[in-house]
Amino acid sequence: HFDVVIVGAGHAGSQLAIALRQRKFQGSIALLGDEGDPPYERPPLSKEYLSGEKTFDRLLIRPLEFWAVRDVTLLLSRRADAVDPAARTLQVSDGTTISYGKLVWATGGQPRRLTCSGHDLRGVHAVRSRADVDRLIAELPSVTRVIVIGGGYIGLEAAAVLTKLGKPVTVLEAQDRVLARVAGEELSRFYEEEHRSHGVDLRTGVSIECIDEEAGAACGVRLADGSTIAGEMVIVGIGIVPAVAPLVTAGARSANGVWVDEFCRTSLDDVYALGDCAAHANRYADGAVIRLESVQNANDQAATVAKALMGEFEAYDAVPWFWSNQYDLKLQTIGLSTGFDATVVRGDRAARSFSIVYLRASRVIALDCVNSTKDYVQGRALVATGAVLSPTRLADASVPLKEMVP
Ligand code: FAD
Repeated sequence: HFDVVIVGAGHAGSQLAIALRQRKFQGSIALLGDEGDPPYERPPLSKEYLSGEKTFDRLLIRPLEFWAVRDVTLLLSRRADAVDPAARTLQVSDGTTISYGKLVWATGGQPRRLTCSGHDLRGVHAVRSRADVDRLIAELPSVTRVIVIGGGYIGLEAAAVLTKLGKPVTVLEAQDRVLARVAGEELSRFYEEEHRSHGVDLRTGVSIECIDEEAGAACGVRLADGSTIAGEMVIVGIGIVPAVAPLVTAGARSANGVWVDEFCRTSLDDVYALGDCAAHANRYADGAVIRLESVQNANDQAATVAKALMGEFEAYDAVPWFWSNQYDLKLQTIGLSTGFDATVVRGDRAARSFSIVYLRASRVIALDCVNSTKDYVQGRALVATGAVLSPTRLADASVPLKEMVP
């Protein structure tokens, strides 16, 4: 028995355990995860870990001894298979049953897989875990071309790193532009040009027929128009599927992830959820129920859950932020641009330092800042307050955003 059992030893789960001990939580805590490694940061997997600039030990969220010192029981290489909310127990893949006082679901998601033929061939990779990236790195030396499927952040970051490592890269995106799900057209076009100028063969509006096979391994991708692209490595970056099946089977309300209220409580008694797997009504999405896949959300929801578990109910209301590194471009985003009806560009695209401000009904809802940390820092207050500002004023990059806060 543990007072708190956290399922998923990723960002959200580990930050929750840390936050509980920081707040002097005295009860027993188990942190159960199906990966073999202690909690580590995922963002470098498609950045400095893939490029070889950071070794794995530098990705650890805390040194290994931390967990024992703080009396957090790490149960690694074990999967939670089923929950019995009435008995308050968890069935674990090693055959054990763990009983809990409070259960917290922090399982993130599984990489979405292609469904076409060849999707499971050797040479087809996801970029979600350390194991994924280690497998990919091991195969790289014999690869003559990498084909990245999906022009989202992870696919584009991987493309940038592999290009820098000297590999020819093709990026295939189904939509008519990259980053279509998360950004406006200006940003998409900017990144498309950037990748092409680095030699990436970037194609949008393409649909994939299958992965071609040779001797049991991938040898290329066949498109719906009949053309083929040869390449021994296929990286699939087409999003995640929230890992919530056991909770949903146990009766938790769900909709693209497990549904949680403003305190991260699921519809099951004493069961919480947070991080990538938790669908919540977000003020910055105009109240829509969404999942946020970001370190910010994992950390801030961990604080919300830690407080709630200690009887202090404070609604989750953090301003979303995110970053992405590609080549020498540092993108920092604040707010959520979904549903924008106007955009303003501040700064100089040609100088590769600019921001795109997103407005909805004249209110600032988000900023995408490229090599423009000042706007990112100062824009937060505009997003948090939903400032009403004229596009002409916003476009004047000689005026710092902090001077525009109403
Ligand atoms: P995770 O960190 O995925 O942790 C969930 C853990 O639970 C995993 O270890 C999983 O294996 C485990 N698990 C799942 N099911 C079970 C089960 N039944 N039993 C036991 N364990 C289970 N965010 C940013 O803000 N900025 C970035 O630049 C950025 N870059 C990224 C790059 C990559 C390559 C990836 C993959 C993600 C990136 N993210 C980035 C997103 C960020 O890493 C996630 O939002 C964050 O890790 C979410 O934390 P989480 O704890 O919800 O999920």
